[in-house]
Amino acid sequence: MSGNLYALFQSRFPKDLSRPCIKQPGRPDLSYQAIDELSAQYAGWLRQAGIRKGDRVAVQVEKSVEAVFLYLGCLRVGAIYLPLNTGYTAAELDYFIGDAGPSIFVCASDVQATLAPVCEKHAVNLLMTLDADGKGSLIEALAECSPAPAVEVCDPDDLAAILYTSGTTGRSKGAMLSHRNLASNAMTLHRIWGWSGDDMLIHALPIFHVHGLFVAIHCVLVAGAAMWFLPAFDAKAITGLMKHATVLMGVPTFYTRLLDEPSFTKEACTGMRLFISGSAPLLEQTFHDFEKRTGMRILERYGMSEAGMITSNPLEGARIAGTVGFPLPDVEARIADENGKLLPPGENGILEIRGPNLFQGYWQMPEKTAGEFRPGGWFITGDIACMDQEGRVSIIGRAKDLIISGGYNVYPKEVELAVDGLPGILESAVIGLPHRDFGEAVTAIIVPDGSDELVEADLIRALSEALARFKQPKRMIIRDALPRNSMGKVQKAALRQEYKHLYQ
Ligand code: ATP
Ligand code: MG
Repeated sequence: MSGNLYALFQSRFPKDLSRPCIKQPGRPDLSYQAIDELSAQYAGWLRQAGIRKGDRVAVQVEKSVEAVFLYLGCLRVGAIYLPLNTGYTAAELDYFIGDAGPSIFVCASDVQATLAPVCEKHAVNLLMTLDADGKGSLIEALAECSPAPAVEVCDPDDLAAILYTSGTTGRSKGAMLSHRNLASNAMTLHRIWGWSGDDMLIHALPIFHVHGLFVAIHCVLVAGAAMWFLPAFDAKAITGLMKHATVLMGVPTFYTRLLDEPSFTKEACTGMRLFISGSAPLLEQTFHDFEKRTGMRILERYGMSEAGMITSNPLEGARIAGTVGFPLPDVEARIADENGKLLPPGENGILEIRGPNLFQGYWQMPEKTAGEFRPGGWFITGDIACMDQEGRVSIIGRAKDLIISGGYNVYPKEVELAVDGLPGILESAVIGLPHRDFGEAVTAIIVPDGSDELVEADLIRALSEALARFKQPKRMIIRDALPRNSMGKVQKAALRQEYKHLYQ
């Protein structure tokens, strides 16, 4: 069989192609037959536009089923799909377009005029539009083309996508993902999360990241299952859909917002078998509140652009708050110090991984790529983690967020847990800020829950028993909310920038 990921999907479509694949409230269902025919239409257009195996197709559009067909069309012709965060501005896109060198750029019609000079500058052949309502010049062009049903034969190592990392710790890097990377991860998740053709996913994530594009859509397609495809997260609407669904994939904020929704009750989710969380750490409090409300435990998993999913709490067996579970069956994981020396169970160190899901390197960054690998093909994730005797992994934070204060290592997560335990605090982000004496000063940025008047000096005093002196925050800054990106990741780099003169 061809190594083309789309060929894998096709081989796993339900026998009865009239079964629904995509459902949208108030719109007709799209069957597997329809998905196959529509994606062939997009493939036909791509071929007519001169796209060949290995060409890049960059896409920055609002979520729509048409964007999914475009992705599948790219797979079919062997093009490299390159989704971009809808939040990026023209100035930011200048970097991505210049870096990736796409042949085609598909954007929303309201930014077309702004992007035209950027595309011209970087010699992009075609600039097309696609809007959230499924209209645009791309759709008009499609109508003129004949479908291309043949699926390009690919080597499993050919690239299927370039996914830019979220840019949480620095400039985004283009992670090159092969058909094999995506296929192996899809099949592994299919097995470990117990997918079947009867599953119905609630899809409310953006589709420019691993989570919404690969994990969610691939799990549905390789199971021959179906999904409610929603433009965005709406707690009430999603709660209403749960009686017609079985699985929800979300970022942690989905779950806090569901808990704030009065109609989200145990009865509302009786048909649901699985709630999955990832992309950012799930607060232990959310996990416990959710269990109290529904009697179900959220399944937290961990992954990244460079590797898709890496670890998961078990489907059967204990799901433990604050942990991300076990390495996937085909993923090897180990904990090492910054020099690569392996550490014993229970110690904090950097998580290194190996497996068929692991990317092919950063696009046009051979040196950066080489610097992130150890001999034997182990990838240095940059996340600090700890693994217990049984192999269960907890993510402690990012190596780049580690604070070194007065020569001591301070793990922000440990301090955050202590801070979050104080009355009146909803959540916190602990960062290190430049300080003349300490090098970096431990600083807590806190969000009150509104129940108490918070006094900084009292809060700092309250922590003095819980934490060793070197871990205690020197300052605790109160603000209304933490800066987050669309995946719910706290933007610590932005906080460090904002408060960089606090002690100077
Ligand atoms: P950049 O690499 O550009 O700094 P990024 O690492 O945020 O950005 P992504 O690849 O989108 O870009 O995100 C992967 C990261 O998300 C992981 O390395 C990890 O830090 C975090 N993450 C994902 N799932 C979880 C989880 N369940 N718990 C804690 N962190 C998680
Ligand atoms: Mg990263």
